[in-house]
Amino acid sequence: MSLIKIFKRLFCKHKNQYTVTNFYGDAINYFNCRSWRECEDCGKIIEGGLDKNCDRVNQWWYIK
Ligand SMILES: [Zn+2]
Repeated sequence: MSLIKIFKRLFCKHKNQYTVTNFYGDAINYFNCRSWRECEDCGKIIEGGLDKNCDRVNQWWYIK
């Protein structure tokens, strides 16, 4: 990762997030959260709750 990206992430407010995937079953325990969200500005993965608007399940590879 570039220094610029690390710097950006430090000051990023993570305002532009999308849900990467919801988790069901064993994946909830494995990842210890109900969903992954990614900040579109800095790329940080944020652990989140269940997103009813997201129809992807256990597709953690679905990172833009
Ligand atoms: Zn961010």
